[in-house]
Amino acid sequence: RKKSIKYGYTHLSAGELLRDERKNPDSQYGELIEKYIKEGKIVPVEITISLLKREMDETMAANAQKNKFLIDGFPRNQDNLQGWNKTMDGKADVSFVLFFDCNNEICIERCLERGKSSGRSDDNRESLEKRIQTYLQSTKPIIDLYEEMGKVKKIDASKSVDEVFDEVVQIFDKEG
Ligand code: AMP
Repeated sequence: RKKSIKYGYTHLSAGELLRDERKNPDSQYGELIEKYIKEGKIVPVEITISLLKREMDETMAANAQKNKFLIDGFPRNQDNLQGWNKTMDGKADVSFVLFFDCNNEICIERCLERGKSSGRSDDNRESLEKRIQTYLQSTKPIIDLYEEMGKVKKIDASKSVDEVFDEVVQIFDKEG
């Protein structure tokens, strides 16, 4: 939070917005979102984009200077990327992409540990294995595309929380 104030951006997590929407009793998408999340699949882009765009528009409407966003967990696949390009063309510049590089075993162990208290329906071994498949099939190719554009900042995320945080701060000091 402190960092977001220093660098003047608003952190938005696609997964968190989807989890919040799922809890909203007035939402028509609750059940669908839960099904996708549990299966580790990518929720249809119209839903994710509309949630992101609503948050961005509301943030800027409240304070026009708040026009920098760190969007976490997006774009996750080709469909996300196309939806983003279509909706945000001429409206948003993508400065860079943070890639938290970490091997599968460590990721699974960390999420299982998180699962002890997160209450998340996808922090279990079965969902995690599916999420890794989704990542390899759908998300990695998108990171590769941004890599070709020279926009990827890679961080060794197998290190400790403090070390990873320091690497992120260094990137923002240079680029933010
Ligand atoms: P995360 O909170 O980033 O770990 O995401 C948890 C789950 O939410 C994913 O496995 C997907 O089912 C869903 N999700 C997160 N981000 C997206 C996205 N950009 N597009 C579609 N579904 C997403």
